[in-house]
Order: sequence, then structure tokens, then C-alpha cells
Amino acid sequence: MGEKKTKIIPANRTLPMIAMRGLVLYPNMVLHFDIGREKSIAALNESAASEERLIFLTAQKDIEVDEPKISDLYQVGVVAQIKQIIKIPKGGLRVMVEGCYRAKITVPMQDTPYFMAKTKSIPLKRKPANSADMEIALIRAVKNLFEDYSDLSPKMPKEIMLGVMMAEDANVLAEFIAGNIPVSVEEKQTILEQSDVLKRLEYVAQVLESESEILALERDIYDKVKERMDQNQREYYLREQIKVLSEEIDGEDSPQTEVEEYLNKIAGLNLTIEACEKLTKEANRLTKMPSSSQEASVIRNYLDTCIELPWNVSNVISSDVKKAQHILDNDHYGLEKVKERIVESIAVRALAPKIKGQILCLVGPPGVGKTSIGKSIAKATGREYVRISLGGVKDESDIRGHRKTYIGSMPGRIIDAMKRAKSKNPLMLLDEIDKLGADFKGDPTSALLEVLDAEQNSAFRDHYIEIPFDLSDVLFVATANDDSNIPGPLYDRMEVIDIPSYTREEKYNIAKKYLIPKQRERHGLKGTQIRISDDGIYTLIDSYTREAGVRKLEQTTAKVMRKTAKMIVAEEKKRVVITPANVEEFLGPKRRKIDGISLTNEVGVVNGLAWTSVGGETMPIEVAVLDGTGKLELTGSLGDVMKESAQAAVSYIRSKCDVYGIEKEFYKTRDIHIHVPEGAVPKDGPSAGTAICTALISALTGISVKRDVAMTGEITLRGRVLPIGGLREKTMAAYRAGVKTVIVPADNEADISELSDVIKENINFVIARNIEIVLETALTEPFKIAEVQSFSGNIDKETPTVTAVTC
Ligand code: ADP
Repeated sequence: MGEKKTKIIPANRTLPMIAMRGLVLYPNMVLHFDIGREKSIAALNESAASEERLIFLTAQKDIEVDEPKISDLYQVGVVAQIKQIIKIPKGGLRVMVEGCYRAKITVPMQDTPYFMAKTKSIPLKRKPANSADMEIALIRAVKNLFEDYSDLSPKMPKEIMLGVMMAEDANVLAEFIAGNIPVSVEEKQTILEQSDVLKRLEYVAQVLESESEILALERDIYDKVKERMDQNQREYYLREQIKVLSEEIDGEDSPQTEVEEYLNKIAGLNLTIEACEKLTKEANRLTKMPSSSQEASVIRNYLDTCIELPWNVSNVISSDVKKAQHILDNDHYGLEKVKERIVESIAVRALAPKIKGQILCLVGPPGVGKTSIGKSIAKATGREYVRISLGGVKDESDIRGHRKTYIGSMPGRIIDAMKRAKSKNPLMLLDEIDKLGADFKGDPTSALLEVLDAEQNSAFRDHYIEIPFDLSDVLFVATANDDSNIPGPLYDRMEVIDIPSYTREEKYNIAKKYLIPKQRERHGLKGTQIRISDDGIYTLIDSYTREAGVRKLEQTTAKVMRKTAKMIVAEEKKRVVITPANVEEFLGPKRRKIDGISLTNEVGVVNGLAWTSVGGETMPIEVAVLDGTGKLELTGSLGDVMKESAQAAVSYIRSKCDVYGIEKEFYKTRDIHIHVPEGAVPKDGPSAGTAICTALISALTGISVKRDVAMTGEITLRGRVLPIGGLREKTMAAYRAGVKTVIVPADNEADISELSDVIKENINFVIARNIEIVLETALTEPFKIAEVQSFSGNIDKETPTVTAVTC
């Protein structure tokens, strides 16, 4: 296409038209654009074929419309001259046009095959010359505004900047700016349609200003977003750097890796939001301190402890009552009542799991199997077993822990036990709950109460852990030696099950059926390699142990097994049979003489019965009456209560001299010496009253006492016999010593039915309400009693005091 440099004069022309989509052309502006629509191509071809190659370009109001009608187009457009047409590969044409003058449609001529219309040029209007200053001012203002705008607009090409700066004419400036800034078609069209040059420039100024504002706002937002992103990126970048650096220095154990490991573990615990946040916070603190610092190790300890806790781990609880009974029977001999009660509570829990049952408390002397029953209950119900020893716990923080701000602080015993249990529903044995103390640092009882209280223990707070821990699924079982020492509030919450001391026969059975096989297996011996004869077992019980339970017996058995194992390994022997004859070879000389009663009836010697923490014992009481001045001497480590019993007996006898035919002045003319052998063992308690009184009367009257009678009972000044404690243990000792008759206070009669069958079968019980019956039973010769007083009144019940030995 040849280039003709003819100036196009604005005029009224009939021209082919093209509807522009999203583009507004201004006069004096060169524009490239692509056309594809048939109508537009036809118009272009028509125009290109003409001499002047003029075409009327006007924008379509809505760029979405594909087939616009003339009414869809703006009336005002620009007459342009086609400068170049190039076919483009994907179809359609690329056109270059130059804007000549503004024009508007006066008469639409045709729609097809292309638009054609009569057009009329629109001249610009300029104000009179006096507005020239105004124009200059406006030009400056617009240039300034454009400068601001281009500062904010990041990709403004230099040429445009230059073009704006060079423009002298208000109209050129307005059109140049309008043609080069990305504003809407509507705005561009408004500028095009404005004929008043100054108004047009004003409008451009307005557009520039609002565009600048928008750009400033955009930039502001962008800056903020960027800043935030930068911050995050910076942190990420720094953290990565720290990680790499500390990995270089510390190897794999860098704080960063460590913290990440902790965070992963915490996430895996499935904690409550509160707990999770707390632990995460602590873990993140680790990044801010040197890994070898003391504080870091405090935090590490804390996190390790918390992570190890069984927050959400529990065992499946079995409520199979038959299986439970089987396991209990398998582990323990006898103890029928205890087992029955335990099986009952398992059944109740199975039927009503929500009801938190009473806490069982097993009470009995040491070695009767309280701890091992606890273990069996755990086994029978499928729970883990943990034991907490409460003996000597005086301080609340023993239960609840110390705050972790203290160096070396730890969680309390409860949380520590949970950590060991590794399950949130273990059986927790609170051992020796009667040995709890209290001191100025707070009472552990109240902390323990909270632990046991079903209402509160679902959110137990340990000072060290700080976050609540759920103890409501724990099965608590307590043990105690003496239930009278259990703190009252705790006692009220527990169901006490008594486990009495074992009889000799029971010990024999336990040893034969449980302890010996258990120890044999533990020492790797076979049944063919070691046997302990029945007599041998009795010898172990009688001569090497002195206890209510069987702990020492088990240790003695273990000792026998050890020696045997050594002999077998050293090939000294192939098979060992322990009998009373050779037991000393294994265990050394017999430690304990068998309690026995004297071989003959003696004057002034009575078999008393004592109750100690290791069970019952016979306790011979000897009285010697000598010429003297009325002194009462007591020897054999007797406590005050026992001395008072002796004085009460003397006073009673003085009041009854006539009745017993005793010299009236005996308390003045005779010295009385009361002795209880085994002087090193302290003895106290009032229950030797009847025995002392009988020995005294025997000594004063010269009537001997039957050797196979033993007695227990407190005595009043009027000769009443008051009840005592520990009958089971005492009668057991009597039986062991070969006693045939035991005199017991009338108020203890009901206790006799509770005694074990061997005792009931082998001992003859005499119930005594007063001392006359005692004397009648114990003395060898009938007594010439002038008048027997009857005591039918109420007898005061007093509990015997127990110190070392209760008589
Ligand atoms: P406690 O807790 O009452 O002091 P332990 O539970 O420690 O007593 O018992 C000591 C030992 O005696 C344990 O090995 C236990 O298994 C055993 N034992 C106690 N009573 C019996 C019993 N009735 N049957 C079998 N073994 C028993």
C-alpha cells in the first residue's frame, strides 16, 4: 500500500465503519489492532480500496456483544486513515491506522455487509484568549499529576513520560494521556466526546488524580502484603539457616531438629487444645536458648515427662468374673472372703461401669499378700499394675509434685505412677496408706482425697505437669497394716477388707502350694532336684520365721533354693531333700526356739497371750512372792499400762483376801516380783490383767496353774474381765505352743466364730466374765471360794492400747 502524505481535512463524509472492542482512538494517534469479524474486514477492504483510505472507528458500548448493531455503538468516533494492513497467520488482519479527526454519526446508512454511515466532523472548542493562562496552569497541573501517576505506576514506559513532558498543547496532552493510560472505555470515550479543550484537560486531571489514588492504595496494600510475606519468609529463611548452622555444630541434635521432633510428638498425642498449646509453647521456648543451658534441660525433662504420659492409651478391661476367680485362686491360697469381695466388685463394675465403686483397702499385717493380691486384681481385670508407696509421705508435693521452676523438680508420685503404667486405666496400689504423715508443708491427705474422689479426679492437676490429667479410669486399691491409723476422711471413702495373719497350717499350705514351686522355678530348679518335706516346711515356719504373713518364709525358701542351686551346679549333689534333720546345713542354726509351755504345772507361772505386729505369741508371766516390805517389782520391759494392770490385780486381791484365804497383810509383809521373760522386747497393754492376777493368786496361795491353759483379758478392780484385741493371732500362738484351753473375755465370744477351723477344733474356749471363772479354770485345785459374786451389769468396753506388744 503506497504511502500518501495528504493531509486529511475534517469534513462530512460517508464512510465504512468498524466497531472497536475495548479501544478508543484519538486524532493524531497511531494505533495497531487486529480485526477478525467479517463485517469489519469488509469495511476495511472497502476503505482500503478508496483513495483516501479513510474509515470511521467508533467503540462499541459493550465489548461482550459479538454482532453489534449501530445502536450498540458510540455515536462519536474518529475518522482514521489506514496505514497498513497485514494478514495474520491465525486468520484476520492486523491494521495500523492514524487518527485524523473526531466525527459523529449523523445518518446510519447500512448494517450489512458492513456498517456505513454519514459522518460529521466535530471541531474542538477553545475559550477566548484570556483563558490562555488558565490553559497553561492546567497543563502544568496535569503534567505534575501525570508525574505522580507515573511514579506510582511501575511499568510506565519512558517514551510516554517524555511524550507527556514534551506536549505543549492542551489538546495533544489530553489525548496523549488518555490514549496511554489504562482507564476504562467509558472514560476514554468521555474524553473523546468532550469538545471543550479545557474541560477535557480538567477531566483528564480528574482521571489522573483518581487513578493515582487507586494506585497509591494498591501500592499500600501491596506493600503491606509484601511486608507480611517478607516477614514470614525472613523468619522461615532465618529458621532454616539456624537449623543448618546448628546441625553443623551439634549434628542431628540441634535445637531446631529437637523442637520439630517434640512438636511432632505433641501432635501425635491427641491432646486437648489447652494441653497442646501449653506443650507447644514450651517446645518453642527451646529454640530461644542454648541447648546446654539449665533451663533447656528443665524444659526437656518437662516435655519428655508429658509426652510419656498415657494421655489417650488404655487397656481393654476384662469383666470375666470366672477368669478373675481363676486368676485369684491360682495366685493365692485361701483368702476366700477377700477373693469373693474382689470378684463381686469386678462384677459390679461390669454391670455399671459409670458407677465408680468404692476404693478397696486391704488391711492386715505385713506379708499376708496385700500387695500381691493387688497385682492379681490387675492381672484378672487386664489392667496395668503400678504401686505407690505412701509410707513416710509427709508433704503435699510428694503427691502433687513441685512446680517446674524449681531445679530438679519432678511430678508427684501419682503422675509418676501414671508414667510408669503407660496406660490411663491401670490398677494403682496405694501401699501403706496408714503411714501417711503431715507436716508444715501441707497435708498429703487432702491431695490424696482429690485423687480418690470420682467427682474431681478427671482433672487432676499436678504442680509440675500443670495441665489437668484424667485419673477417672484408674482403679485404686489401698493397703494398710492398721486401719485405725488411716486418716479419717480417707477411711470414709474406702471399703476395708481385713486380711488376718495366717495360721501355721495356712502358712504350710501357702509354702507347699505357692511359695516353694514359685521359688523353685525362679531359681531354675526342677521338682526332681529339690524337695522340702512336710516336717521341713514346719521347721522353716517354726524355727526360722516369726511373722504374721509369709514374707520371711518366702525369703527362707529362696535361701534354701539358692544353696541347693549352688550344690547342684557344683555337682556336690544331684538331688536335695530338706528335712528337720538337715535344715541347719542350709539355713544355719535355728533362730527361734519353738514357743512352748512348761512341762509341768507350776505355781506362779501363767501362759499369757500377746499380740505383736508379727502375729501372736505365748507370753509366760512369772510371779515370785518373797518375804519383804511390800514392794511390787516388775521386770521384763513392761510398759506403764501393764504396770497399772499389775497394781489393779494386787488391789483386787487385797480386797478378796478372805475369799482366797490369803494373808491379809501380804502387801506389807511380802515383796512381789512380776517378771515377763524376753526382757528386750517391750511389752505393754492391759490384756495381761487376768494372767497377772492368776499368777499372783497362785503364788500367794501356793496352788499351781494348769500348764496347758492360756488366757487373755483385762481386769478391773472389781474382778471383771474386759475384752481384748487380736484374738485370732493370740489363739494361733496358743495352739502352736500346745495350749489346750484358752480363757477369753465374755465380750470376745463373738470373735471365736471368726477363728480358723483348726483352732476351733483343737482349742477349748472358756468364756470368762469375771476372774473367778478364770481361776476356776486355770488353777489345779478347786478353790474354796466363800461367796461368788455375780456381775450382771454392763461391762465397759475399752479398746486395748497397742504399743509394741499387746497383752
Ligand atoms: P503384704 O503386701 O501384705 O506385705 P506381700 O503381698 O508382699 O504382702 O506378700 C509377700 C509374699 O507372700 C508374696 O510373694 C505373696 O505372693 C506371698 N503370699 C502372701 N499370701 C499368700 C497367699 N495367700 N497365697 C500365696 N502366696 C501368698
